[in-house]
Amino acid sequence: MPPAPVNLLDFDDSRLTAFFAGAGEEPARARMRSKQVLRWLHQDLVDDFGSMSNLAKTARAHLQQIAAVGMPAVMRDTTAADGTRKWLLDVGNGNAVDAVFIPEDDRGTLCISSQAGCALDCAFCSTGKQGFNRNLSAAEIIGQLRHANRVLRADGIEAPWMEHGRHPVTNVVMMGMGEPLANLDNVVTALNVMLDDNAYGLSRRRVTLSTSGLVPALDRLREACPVALAVSLHAPNDALRDQLVPVNRKYPLAALLAACNRYLERAPRDFVTFEYVMLDGVNDQPEHARQLVHLARAVNCKFNLIPFNPFPGSPFRRSPRSRITAFQKTLTDAGFIATIRKTRGDDIDAACGQLAGQVLDKTRRTQSLAGVRVVAAA
Ligand code: SAH
Ligand code: SF4
Repeated sequence: MPPAPVNLLDFDDSRLTAFFAGAGEEPARARMRSKQVLRWLHQDLVDDFGSMSNLAKTARAHLQQIAAVGMPAVMRDTTAADGTRKWLLDVGNGNAVDAVFIPEDDRGTLCISSQAGCALDCAFCSTGKQGFNRNLSAAEIIGQLRHANRVLRADGIEAPWMEHGRHPVTNVVMMGMGEPLANLDNVVTALNVMLDDNAYGLSRRRVTLSTSGLVPALDRLREACPVALAVSLHAPNDALRDQLVPVNRKYPLAALLAACNRYLERAPRDFVTFEYVMLDGVNDQPEHARQLVHLARAVNCKFNLIPFNPFPGSPFRRSPRSRITAFQKTLTDAGFIATIRKTRGDDIDAACGQLAGQVLDKTRRTQSLAGVRVVAAA
C-alpha cells in the first residue's frame, strides 16, 4: 500500500518547507516552493495541484501522488436573521464542529473551533457539557477559515470592508468550540498560516485567542505566536471561579493574572480582554462588580460582558438587562472600558456558548446529557 497522502493544509511555512526538503528539494528551492504552494492554497484557495501553474509539471505530478488538500465536509449551512452564518463541519467519526461568520459594518469576523468538545467542563457552556472527543488538526482549524473565505467569495458577498482581492474574513476569534490552549501545537500552526503574508496575511491584532486560563500553555503561546488575548474570567474570586470555571482549581486567579501580565510583554495589543458571562443571581451582584474592580487593577485590561446564552438543560438564566448595565457602570465608573457583547445569531444557536456541534464524548462524563446532543445535532 502506498503511504496515505499528506494533507498540505496541516502545514505552516516552516513545516511545508521541511516537507519539500524531505521530498528532495534543495533548501532554497524548498523555501520557495513552500511560499508558492501557500499562496495557491490560502490566497487563491485552489485545491487542485494541476492548476498550480508556476510549479514545474513534474513537481505537480509528484504532489498529486504524495499530497492532498483535505477540507472538512459541510453538514449544514445556516444563516440567521441578522446575517450571522454558521457552518457545521464534519470532522469524522461522528463528530462535527461549528464555525460562525459574523458580518459587521467595518469587518467580517469568523469564530473558529479548536476541539471537538471540551474537557474543561465550565458550568455554563454547552460545548463543555458535551464532554471531549479530540483535538482538531491544524488542517481542520485553518480549513474553517479557508472554507468561509471560499464560500463567501463565491457567493459574491458585498460588504464595505471588501477591497479588491481581499478575503471576506478580516478578523478571527478562536472562541468557538474547545479550549485552544489545550491544543496548542495545532492552534499555533494554524495561527501561523492566518498571519502569513503568503496565506491570509491577517495582522496579529485582528486574531484573538480566548482561553479559560491554562497558564503554562499561555506562557508557551507568548513565545510561539502572540496574538490578541481574551481571558474567560467570569468570577471575581477563586471560590466562585472554582465553581464556574473548574480549571481555576489548578490555575487560580493570582497565577492567571500574573500570566496575563507576562503575556502582555509580547502581545500585539497592550490590554487583555476579560470576558465575563452574566449569570442571573450568580456572578452579577454589585459586590461582584466591586471585587472585580479591585482584582482587575493588577492587569491592563478591558471588559466584555457576555449576556448568558441559554441552551437546553442548562441551570442558569441570563441576568436582566438592568443588572448588566449596572454592573457595566461600576466598571466604567472605576475607569475601565467595559462593553456588552451583542448577541448574534442566537436564532440559529450560533451565539457564544451555544455551539453544540456534534460530539461523541470519550470522557463519558455527560452520558445523562445525551439528549442535549441529539437536540443540538438535529
Ligand atoms: N474555551 C475558550 C474559548 C471558547 S468559549 C474559553 O473558554 O475562553 C468563548 C467564550 O464564550 C468564553 O468566554 C466562554 O466562557 C463564553 N461562553 C461559554 N458558554 C457561554 C454561554 N452559554 N453564554 C455566553 N457565553 C458563553
Ligand atoms: Fe471549554 Fe471554553 Fe466551554 Fe469552558 S467555556 S467548557 S473552556 S469551551
